[in-house]
Amino acid sequence: MKYHTTMSKKTLMKLLGLGNTGAPGIVASAFQDLDEVKSSPAAGRKMPRWIKEVDKPTVEIDWDRMKRFDGSNIMFVNGFAQAVGPDNAMKLGGHAAETSKQSILKSEPGFTLRDKALVAGGWITSLLTTEHAFLGPGINVPADLCGIPEDLSYPRYEGTPEENTQMVRAAAKIYGAASVGVVELDENTRKLIYSHDGWDGRKWEFEDVDKAYENKKKKVIPYKAQWVIVYTVRMSQPSMSLAPSTLEEAATSMGYSEGTSVQLRLQQFITRLGYQCLADGNMGTSGNSPGFGILAGLGEMSRLNRMISPRWGPMVRVFKVITDLPLAPTKPIDAGIFRFCRTCKKCAEFCPTNALSMETEPSWEVQGPWNNPGVKTYYEKAPNCFSGWLSLGGHDCGICLASCPFSKQDKSFIHIHDSVRQVIATTPAFNGMFHKLDTDPGYGKDPEAWWNLNLPPHGYNNTQGT
Ligand code: SF4
Ligand code: SF4
Repeated sequence: MKYHTTMSKKTLMKLLGLGNTGAPGIVASAFQDLDEVKSSPAAGRKMPRWIKEVDKPTVEIDWDRMKRFDGSNIMFVNGFAQAVGPDNAMKLGGHAAETSKQSILKSEPGFTLRDKALVAGGWITSLLTTEHAFLGPGINVPADLCGIPEDLSYPRYEGTPEENTQMVRAAAKIYGAASVGVVELDENTRKLIYSHDGWDGRKWEFEDVDKAYENKKKKVIPYKAQWVIVYTVRMSQPSMSLAPSTLEEAATSMGYSEGTSVQLRLQQFITRLGYQCLADGNMGTSGNSPGFGILAGLGEMSRLNRMISPRWGPMVRVFKVITDLPLAPTKPIDAGIFRFCRTCKKCAEFCPTNALSMETEPSWEVQGPWNNPGVKTYYEKAPNCFSGWLSLGGHDCGICLASCPFSKQDKSFIHIHDSVRQVIATTPAFNGMFHKLDTDPGYGKDPEAWWNLNLPPHGYNNTQGT
């Protein structure tokens, strides 16, 4: 599919009153200062003024229809075999392994040994944290490094919920998080915690106990641990733009490893303050992290059936920990993203397996048991997607993430001008035009050239804060 427009970007900016003409335009009266930042009255969150805090997420949720999802139904565990049959799954898995091996032997660009070794390095931190993730690694940083007495002869930290949220946000950011929010667990939001852990098969349960515990059958979250700290970690867009090559996974694997590094650090921080901090394995195996991210206002639902950040689009991974440190929840946001998806459809058009919905309106109807009902969204055909991954030798595809206009920090019209995102947040009138102006497909870049890029740390620049 080709995208073109006869209107230059400069012309459009003038039309919107965002050029250098000095003429008042369509949005000029709405935004006195384009860089203005507002503070949320709850918990001190600072956001650009064009991102509105709202009482409900922009995606509709019917909590009565939602049940706790069994994590073993995800594609990586049992979901794919359930969808295509165990024999087929086995056959396709074997074919993927052979494809991967042959691509190494033939040194196919983007699938070479060098590329795959890079991805292995990206994953390693994440894998190391998996085994003892729930209660933490059981290691305390010694007193001679942090100054905290080993004998716990000190009162625990006390602060108001608002102070605590601000404190946790500051801590998570220095540890590497890009944005941080809080969701309170109640009878509805507990449904975002899975019934079973897809990684180890154990049950996730809530009990009226003082301390979290685990045994061979279950991991138990005390009801008093009723706050979810949810945070994002950025991914490298230049690496993601190599989709669908193996090298794209340099971005995702590093995202997971950085996310679990933040998790470990938060666990040490919060337990040393005198509270519990519970986590999951490297894939968010305790529950729906993007769902918590949407409720916490770190982004909006999208056609990907995943969260999109107003700043970085889908170039983030979402993680969470659960704590009994009292926290002030943060509110959902409206930056016009879910509304933009109705017009855009770019990810679905580029998807090579037709896994993403092309419908204009979201729906309550799930596509299969890999979806959890109760959200009016764009449910995806996950087995199509996963079979596409297998045809690549078992690696991520990532075309949908790379092609999203919100991903392209330097190339997309949306990201050239914050002002355009302000318009998207305010009115849908120009969404069709913005979609057409995003002419760069965003994926399929040269994987050999990537090795000669002089990328910033972690492959993304830090000029944009939250
Ligand atoms: S990862 Fe690839 S196959 Fe899967 S939904 Fe995205 S574009 Fe489609
Ligand atoms: S590519 Fe377009 S439709 Fe897809 S998630 Fe991004 S904004 Fe939404």
